[in-house]
Amino acid sequence: MIKLENIHKYFGELHVLHGVNLEVAEGEKVVIIGPSGSGKSTLIRCINLLEKPEEGSVVVDEVNLLTTPAAVAKVRQSMGMVFQQFNLYPHMTVLENLILAPIKLKGISKDEAIASGLLYLDRVGLQDKANAYPAQLSGGQQQRVAIARALNMKPKIMLFDEPTSALDPEMIQEVLDVMIALAGEGITMVVVTHEMGFARKVADRVIFMADGEIIEQNTPEEFFTNPKHNRTRQFLSRIA
Ligand code: ADP
Ligand code: MG
Repeated sequence: MIKLENIHKYFGELHVLHGVNLEVAEGEKVVIIGPSGSGKSTLIRCINLLEKPEEGSVVVDEVNLLTTPAAVAKVRQSMGMVFQQFNLYPHMTVLENLILAPIKLKGISKDEAIASGLLYLDRVGLQDKANAYPAQLSGGQQQRVAIARALNMKPKIMLFDEPTSALDPEMIQEVLDVMIALAGEGITMVVVTHEMGFARKVADRVIFMADGEIIEQNTPEEFFTNPKHNRTRQFLSRIA
């Protein structure tokens, strides 16, 4: 479904991704871990071309996005993205946040967007907050709204970039629980996170990145019990 080949990304002189290859199959859950600055965010942002690699190819559903710019907008709509910062529109209610993109970008009717929006709010346990404003919600609730907002675009792929890193500890699990439930429904997921419990539970494959390269990848069982590379072992021993 997603195939990134030989991705090189530079920010000016800084060579951030050094020929990364990443394939994600339909329905697969991939968790990316690694030290800060290793290029995890940049890599995940290359999947929907929020960052444009200087070299390599990004193929989604058989379409090469770098050589087919006309396809990018459509592909982006098929990918929901959730960031560390929730990025909700502060002047809009929760429900208004949820219906904006489906109406504007997909031409869904307002009634339909509201109906599905309320369903997704229910799924993240927040239907009673439909008319609240983001500032009236806790961080964990705001992040759950951000997930519901992404889902209301009916994406085929969900990309998460450290969705719990900005949260107070007591709010992390409520967001992870929503993601765990989502994973159980068969959607394709790529998740950058430091939550190793989540990785163990949900990932089909764990990828360890360092210095702009994929150092090691494996099933969570193998990865956590039998890491092959020194750098992986060092990283795991530090966060354990
Ligand atoms: P990670 O998500 O693993 O912490 P990032 O992908 O955010 O790593 O960053 C990788 C490297 O690229 C870091 O050195 C970071 O400072 C740099 N970087 C990321 N985004 C930009 C940008 N927009 N402009 C310049 N440098 C950037
Ligand atoms: Mg990052």
